[in-house]
Amino acid sequence: MKIPFVDLKAQYHSLKTEMDAAIFNVIENTAFIKGKQVSTFEEAFAHKYGVKNCIGLANGTDALYISMKMLGIGPGDEVITTAWSWISTSETVTQTGARPVFVDVDAFYTIDASKIEDKITSRTKAIIPVHLYGQAAQMDVITDIAKRHNLILIEDCAQSHFTEFKGQKAGTFGSAGTFSFYPGKNLGAYGDAGAILTNDDEMAAKFRMYASHGALKKHHHEIEGINSRLDGLQAAVLNVKLPHIDEWNSRRIENAAMYTEHLKDVPEVKIPMVRKDTKHTFHIYCIQAENREALREHLLENGIETQIHYPTMLPFMPAYKYMKHKPEDFPNAYAAQDKILSLPMYAELTPENIEYVSDTVKKFYKR
Ligand SMILES: *Cc1c(COP(=O)(O)O)cnc(C)c1O
Repeated sequence: MKIPFVDLKAQYHSLKTEMDAAIFNVIENTAFIKGKQVSTFEEAFAHKYGVKNCIGLANGTDALYISMKMLGIGPGDEVITTAWSWISTSETVTQTGARPVFVDVDAFYTIDASKIEDKITSRTKAIIPVHLYGQAAQMDVITDIAKRHNLILIEDCAQSHFTEFKGQKAGTFGSAGTFSFYPGKNLGAYGDAGAILTNDDEMAAKFRMYASHGALKKHHHEIEGINSRLDGLQAAVLNVKLPHIDEWNSRRIENAAMYTEHLKDVPEVKIPMVRKDTKHTFHIYCIQAENREALREHLLENGIETQIHYPTMLPFMPAYKYMKHKPEDFPNAYAAQDKILSLPMYAELTPENIEYVSDTVKKFYKR
C-alpha cells in the first residue's frame, strides 16, 4: 500500500466539477486581482468565524508581518513566541525591527503559558501563540497575561482553521488572528494565500491599507505599504473548499482517534495529547518515536511517507545563533526534537490506511 504524507489530488477529485468551473469562471471574467471571488471569500470566512473583518492576503507570513507592523510593533520591542513553530512566526518579528523572544513548549507542543511571564521585560510589546498542529494554545491563561501586562495578542492560526479553545474559536482571542491557506494546510488554496481576522474595524482598515501599498483608495497612498493580495484564482478555490472544512476537520479528528487507538499501547511510541475542552483539528498527527530515523526508513520502505515538523527547533537554527541559546533553555522542545514524527494525515485517509500505517509501526518495534 502506498500512503503519501498528504493527498491533495484525492481532495481535488472529490470537488473536480465545481472546482474546474470556478477556476474557469475567474479566467473568463479576468477577475485576477481583487474582484468578486475575493470579497465573497473574505465575507464568508469572517462570517463562519463570527468575526467582523477578514482581510485576504498573499500568504500567511504576510498576515503575521502586516498585523505586527500595523499594531505598532517595531525597533526596540520584544515579541514573545514559541520555540516550536515554522520560522514565519519569528522571522516576521525580526522583519518589523523587533526581537523575537522564545519560550519553551508545554506537553501539548504549544507555548508553555506558565513560562511566559518570566520572559516579560519593559520592552515586551506582544505575545504570539501558535496553535501548532491544530492544537489550541492555553488561551485563557495567555489572554489573562496579555491583559495584565498590556500586551498585544496575535494568534498564529496557520495550522488551526476552526480549532477551538473552551468553545471559542482560535484566532478570536486577541487583536488579530493570522491564517495561511498554503496548499497543504487544513484549508488550502492552489498556491499561496493568507488572511487576517479581526473584530477591530480601525485595525482592519489599516491592515488592508498596508497590504495594498498604503492606499485604501486607488492612487491615494496614506503611507508606504507592501503588495500582499489574495488573488482571484486562489479565492475561487477557497470559496469551493470553505463549505467542506467542517467535514474535513471532523474526518481528521476521527483519523487521529483511530491512530491513537492503534498506537496507544506501543511502549516506544508517545501519542499526541489533546488539551482538555478544546477542538484539536489535527493539521498534523505527531508522535514521538524511539529510534525515529530507522522507523522512518522502515515506513518509507513500506510505502508510507512521513515528515518532521520540525527537525530543528527555532532557537537552535543558524538564523538564531546570535541568541546563544543552550538546550537547557528549552528542555521540552529540545527533548522532543529528535523523536517527533508526523504520520500521514488528511481527510481522505481510510481506516485501512490508518491500520496499515499503525501495523507497520508496530512491526518495526517487534523485530
Ligand atoms: C504555514 C505557516 C505559516 C506561514 O504561512 P505561509 O502561507 O506559508 O506564508 C506561518 N506560521 C505557521 C505556524 C505555519 O505553519
